[in-house]
Amino acid sequence: MQFDAYEEQAFESRAVHVGVPRESGVGVGIPVHQVAAFQFDTLDAAAQEFQTGATHSYSRIQNPTLRALEARVSALEGGAATVALASGQAATFTAMLGVLRAGDHVVSTGSVFGGTAGLLNNVLPLMGVQTTLVENTPAAVRAALRENTRLVWAETIGNPAADIADIRALADLAHEHGALLGIDNTWGGVGYLCRPLEHGADLVTHSLTKWAAGHGSVLGGSVTVGAAHDLTRLPVFTDGEPNLLAQRGADALAWRLRWLGAHQLGMNLAPHAAGVIALGLETLALRLERESATALTLARALEADERVTRVSYPGLPSSAHHTLAKQYLRGGYGAVLTFEVPDPARFLSQLQLIRMAPNLGDTRTLVIHPWTTTHGRLPEAARRAAGVTPHSIRMSVGVEHPQDLLADLQRALS
Ligand SMILES: *Cc1c(COP(=O)(O)O)cnc(C)c1O
Repeated sequence: MQFDAYEEQAFESRAVHVGVPRESGVGVGIPVHQVAAFQFDTLDAAAQEFQTGATHSYSRIQNPTLRALEARVSALEGGAATVALASGQAATFTAMLGVLRAGDHVVSTGSVFGGTAGLLNNVLPLMGVQTTLVENTPAAVRAALRENTRLVWAETIGNPAADIADIRALADLAHEHGALLGIDNTWGGVGYLCRPLEHGADLVTHSLTKWAAGHGSVLGGSVTVGAAHDLTRLPVFTDGEPNLLAQRGADALAWRLRWLGAHQLGMNLAPHAAGVIALGLETLALRLERESATALTLARALEADERVTRVSYPGLPSSAHHTLAKQYLRGGYGAVLTFEVPDPARFLSQLQLIRMAPNLGDTRTLVIHPWTTTHGRLPEAARRAAGVTPHSIRMSVGVEHPQDLLADLQRALS
């Protein structure tokens, strides 16, 4: 099925229309095709489908609910194609494995999601891929580039330091080097706060579990490919006769990501979860606008409170990343802030409304102590490099009334 891309329309309008068929008598919404396989009435039709892949055969290969979600994510990110996968972790792994092979090198900024650092430190090296994590500056990334560097990786807003990647500078560095730039845009809200492809990124990944699904109810992930990317210096695409680039042309990258993540590795998103995420996307702009405004209110209040030792939020003029934030973010500075309190255990035990859970982008405000939980498996130096200290609290702001959140924080501080 082809979906109208609504190219003239704004984010909010695309979010509710892309993927919904416009047809008499057909339901208004994205239907959930909760099936493993699709039937054929003749042997010819079956043989035809297995040769062309034009419609559907088996849900690991094709599923209409996933296609509708993928079209919606592509439209929101301004991408050429999207592959939906079972989780953000599956998406990151697929994006990296999509462009790297044994002997290749990837440079990533160090202030990334703990699971991403885990893939870079522990999983890719098992496959003969070299990895380097560096400080989140173009200069540090440039210094780490090697002859065999094929991928540069960063997050729009780093987790949990809330540092901002200079996407344009990283893209220029990567491209001069014949490499691609991949950006984990989870905190960028599927293009609502930031569209990395517009700033030169080649690949954008998401944990759709977070602001996309938006209600803390399912896991999901995606990789979106931009329209312009140069694969001519990536051995994965250029080696072999005939090579993948010659075979697939402009579609080579998207094709390989789908083949790898879904067809071969089977990290498929379930149709039910795809339906839930597609619904979540319909209210993402409303939620993130409200959550960003509340986060700014809370960040200001915490910064003014002497019981709080440090507040990191890109929307605060005191943030070292405020200038980059203004350059790359629009519609708000995101829903996450990190702050330091003298006694985290005591603080967390006093909260009555805000809950402690390792998630982001929920409708409910959630806090976590990254030092002992999300980043607890990283070596101490890596934790500090990611902006995590024993006193840090990460808070993902939900849609509750700001006054109730402020009252809860003040009660727990006193
Ligand atoms: C949560 C998260 C991931 C991993 O996503 P899952 O859906 O939990 O697998 C990756 N990157 C970022 C920035 C995240 O916040």
